Amino acid sequence: MQKLFLLCLTAAMMVGTTANAQEKKYPEPEKMSPGMSEYWTPQPKVVTPGSITTNTAPSDAIVLFDGKDLSKWENSKGEAAGWDVRQGVVTVNKKAGDIRTKETFGSFQLHIEWSVPRGIHGSSQARGNSGIFLQGKYEVQVLDNYQNETYVNGMVGSIYKQTPPLVNPMRKPGEWNVYDIIYTAPVFKEDGTYLYHPRVTVILNGVVVQNNTEILGTTEYIGFPRTVKHEEGPIVLQSHGDPSEPISFRNIWIRKM
Ligand code: MG
Repeated sequence: MQKLFLLCLTAAMMVGTTANAQEKKYPEPEKMSPGMSEYWTPQPKVVTPGSITTNTAPSDAIVLFDGKDLSKWENSKGEAAGWDVRQGVVTVNKKAGDIRTKETFGSFQLHIEWSVPRGIHGSSQARGNSGIFLQGKYEVQVLDNYQNETYVNGMVGSIYKQTPPLVNPMRKPGEWNVYDIIYTAPVFKEDGTYLYHPRVTVILNGVVVQNNTEILGTTEYIGFPRTVKHEEGPIVLQSHGDPSEPISFRNIWIRKM
């Protein structure tokens, strides 16, 4: 008897629930119009692009080298950068050592052109070796790898001793190579380890060689990348001790992001 009662009660409850679901009406989502998913402000700033034919910087860039002087640069002791400026290009002076920007940067877009002298001598790493250090710590390799092989994680377009380039779009000595480097600065935890590693996209002569690559840590010639907490840092151009003829740079500009 009790069993039958419980069965009836359960059945009644089920009917009630179904009836409620049928009766209860919820609002329909409002009808969308195309404009509801479009927004107009803030409008990105208008920037005048540089000329491709004359290789000029866009209007909002900081010009780091315009062919005239190295006033935006210094050596590693904070003294005048002792590299040679002639006919619109700056050539590495191996005796003067590395040079760095006086200004420091976080995330940025960097444009830099470089050329290996025609008839350069040497092989592997000892041929047109230089480098671009992002925030003074992470090297994008500069090297003459036109018909010159070396270890792949140390070749042109590599994050030195970390990540080889996807391809080798190097031009031959005497011609100008163009790097466009899009760099996202790291974020550190309080304990000095990375919350977010630095990341970099590198385009060499219009070809992607690093695609949003995670940088593991500082560039070390011997040993593994290290984690070193840092603030904004300079762009450093490497004066490498290899015995080959020195390379040149021109048209260097940077946009902060
Ligand atoms: Mg180097």
